[in-house]
Amino acid sequence: MSTLLVKNATLLVTMDSARRELAGGGLFVRDGFIEAVGPSADLPTAADTILDLHGCLVLPGLVNTHHHFYQTLTRAIPAAQNANLFNWLKTLYPIWAGLTPEDIFISTQTALSELALSGCTTASDHLYLFPNGSSLDDEIAAALEVGVRLQASRGSMSLGESKGGLPPDSVVDSEESILRDSVRLIERYHDPKPGARIQIVLAPCSPFSVTGDLMRQSAALARQYGVHLHTHLAETQDEEAFCLQQFGYRPVAYMQSVNWIGPDVWFAHSVHVSQPEIELYARTGCGVAHCPSSNMRLASGIAPLRQYMQAGVKAGRGVDGSASNDSSHLLAEARQAMLLARLSAGLAGASLSTGGAPALLTAREALELATRGGADVLGRSDIGSLEAGKCADFIAIRLDKLEYAGALHDPVSAAVFCAPQHVDWNVVGGKIIVQDGQLLTVDVPRLVEKHNRAAARLVDR
Ligand SMILES: [Zn+2]
Repeated sequence: MSTLLVKNATLLVTMDSARRELAGGGLFVRDGFIEAVGPSADLPTAADTILDLHGCLVLPGLVNTHHHFYQTLTRAIPAAQNANLFNWLKTLYPIWAGLTPEDIFISTQTALSELALSGCTTASDHLYLFPNGSSLDDEIAAALEVGVRLQASRGSMSLGESKGGLPPDSVVDSEESILRDSVRLIERYHDPKPGARIQIVLAPCSPFSVTGDLMRQSAALARQYGVHLHTHLAETQDEEAFCLQQFGYRPVAYMQSVNWIGPDVWFAHSVHVSQPEIELYARTGCGVAHCPSSNMRLASGIAPLRQYMQAGVKAGRGVDGSASNDSSHLLAEARQAMLLARLSAGLAGASLSTGGAPALLTAREALELATRGGADVLGRSDIGSLEAGKCADFIAIRLDKLEYAGALHDPVSAAVFCAPQHVDWNVVGGKIIVQDGQLLTVDVPRLVEKHNRAAARLVDR
């Protein structure tokens, strides 16, 4: 049994059902779970570890709902800098074909280090190619060392160029081996209990890189084991044209046809959707991982975030892979989402307020999508807010930073409106992984050196 007391936060944002924000607030944690939240004076005074967070803003840990960690090795590749999705993929697939198990390990640690320092306590990752003997095990081993919770999505590609798909045949696998490995990973790693460090998700990559048959079989397998399903959907107009031509359906209708609609499914992007498709998501519980930087970077379009929220669709935030962001800064992504939603509202001619409800996405809404929203999308009721019974996953940011000077009229909004900062504390399940701005679990300078060596080898092959 171990206990942790957090006290005297300048402001503690709970994101509980009443959205309480507590001046002078704190938490009492036992064995990784929150036992009490409230004014510091109301909490026990003794604990094994005591954190006095006077001068800090405390928030629930941020949740990342979409990423491809391995892409940190191929950021800002000149030939892929100015391409849209399909051309960008065609440029990068041959490079990714050189990935090794060590590359997966190193890039996972790099992405998770960036995520941890920018406030993430739970990350979903989507690994969908396994060249040269690499496997999801490499990623999981790396993540366990960093200490961020991982929803490890067992991705897959089975529809190569020779069968009408987009990826070259060299990076696709047989459906039989994909399904066999999916079963192995679920049985070995998936932990359904509250406080899980690792959960497995089944994640065929996209409509243009797997067959309908693999989609159907993955859905059946996921439901047999009670794990969630994830894929890219309605990301670009090229994808919509591909689905109409190949399957005779728009992307969402195609998902219906392969049994991929339900509360255990979340889609990355969903930029190009109609109002009835938004309503279908809301009615059936499908979630969306909104990735604004990637959508801007690849000129994919603007996802209808406000319409998702108004319809009651579960929506969370994703940084997306680091070859289309090219960053894993989750707090920066909250800011991008807020700014892009505002631009979208402006382009649609929205007035500043409608009947008292602001039409512009607020900083608090942006943070809610990155905390409670992300937890809902991943189907995790044990994270996303600071409440008794939930995981002790939280971050703290010092408010005396240069970048926040003059913004302390509203410290919560400062964290989103002002230049994105690194966090000073990151605690996952009561375990401190960032202390005074330093990541405790990884030797970052050494990692950067190894990562740059691996990136150079991969690209210069
Ligand atoms: Zn993606």
